[in-house]
Amino acid sequence: MTIVSRAVQFVKGLLTPPSRPVCPRCGGTLWNRHGFSNRGKRCLDDLDPDVAIQRYRCTRCGKTWSDKPAWLAPRKWYGRDVIRMSLDLAMDCTTSWRELGSMVHGIVTGAGRAVRWAPWRQPKEGSEPIKLAHTTVWRWFQEAGKRAGQEDRVAERYQGLFSGVLATDESWGWIKGIVEGVGRKVGFGVQALVDGKTRLVLNLRRLANETEEELRAGVEQLVRRGIGLKSIRAWRSDGRQTDPAIWAMRDLGAVPWQRSIFHLWRNLAGGLKAYAAAKGQQAGDRLRDQIRAVWDAPSERAAVVALMTLVQEYGDDPLAGRLVRVVRSTFKEATFHLKGMVAGLARTSGVVEWVWRRYKRRLRLLQCFMSDDGADNFFRLDELHINFHRYQIRKERKRVYPYPGKCPLEIAAAEIEVEVDGRRVAATWMDALAI
Ligand SMILES: [Zn+2]
Repeated sequence: MTIVSRAVQFVKGLLTPPSRPVCPRCGGTLWNRHGFSNRGKRCLDDLDPDVAIQRYRCTRCGKTWSDKPAWLAPRKWYGRDVIRMSLDLAMDCTTSWRELGSMVHGIVTGAGRAVRWAPWRQPKEGSEPIKLAHTTVWRWFQEAGKRAGQEDRVAERYQGLFSGVLATDESWGWIKGIVEGVGRKVGFGVQALVDGKTRLVLNLRRLANETEEELRAGVEQLVRRGIGLKSIRAWRSDGRQTDPAIWAMRDLGAVPWQRSIFHLWRNLAGGLKAYAAAKGQQAGDRLRDQIRAVWDAPSERAAVVALMTLVQEYGDDPLAGRLVRVVRSTFKEATFHLKGMVAGLARTSGVVEWVWRRYKRRLRLLQCFMSDDGADNFFRLDELHINFHRYQIRKERKRVYPYPGKCPLEIAAAEIEVEVDGRRVAATWMDALAI
């Protein structure tokens, strides 16, 4: 089942509860009322410790069960909305576990931090016994992360949603941890496999080490996620030395490779600076423009012509010659999109830079994962969060979002909205996990 069908099914269930109770074991519709269980309601809109939940008993099979209103989170003291808000804030708004805990506590109780917001208001009635600790919020997060890693939720997750262009990148993170009894910073690698067209994150994971085998394992996991390796038609990366070896291991050596222009420019930055320092800014700008004419060419023909001009003019120059050689040796990968072999494949700058930007911002304030598998849980949830997260609709022109108001899953042509009573509601990553 894809994460989309999972999420849509769940949110539909929340929005349209069955009109009449049905036995969860045999599907029978004949039952007797079977008393109440005192559940209490600790939700964002309502704080009532005495809310009772109706129980039923099936007359056919004897199974007993309780009502499950949308607000009720099974086996949790707090309501579903409190937990969902906490997870949403944890993923999307950067703050520490402690600050997050105190904020959620304030919203639920109207006490504590909420007195800062509205000193003229009394805390909500019944707020006294509510002591929401940051560890509770953290635990909800870990439980969600474990759920995201469950075999049945991972299997076939992205079936039918892959465009054929795979972008890969690795990054490095630092986190506060304990090493041999001493508190210090601990480093770890992260691998991201992203759909190069739709930006759908196909696998985001912590690397156990930096060997080729470990990187390859991430690619192989795609199969379990519903993406056949044979369906990879182009490969994007920033040009790590190990990449070709990984592809060859999986018989993917023939898959065309596209390089990120952003990284190619970065490779030339030092050389261009040295050239401009020696020959003057104007000459430096001219060389830059000539290189840009190759990498930004509108057609393959224009790119070849621009490359020939570049080689002719600068090929023998002792300073610029080295740069020209880089442009020449990477020409095929830098201009692969112009061949038109993969429909809709565009020139690429950052491969998955934006994933790293988000995650680093988040990590900086989070500071610690508070457990060994905390990092794994974080990346599992981040993957789902990114895929369901819609891009902003912005009025100002500072930044251009190519798909305003859409999330990667929607760009990959999945329908995440549910229509109930004329209202359209978008499913979220939390619905995909049935939280
Ligand atoms: Zn029954």
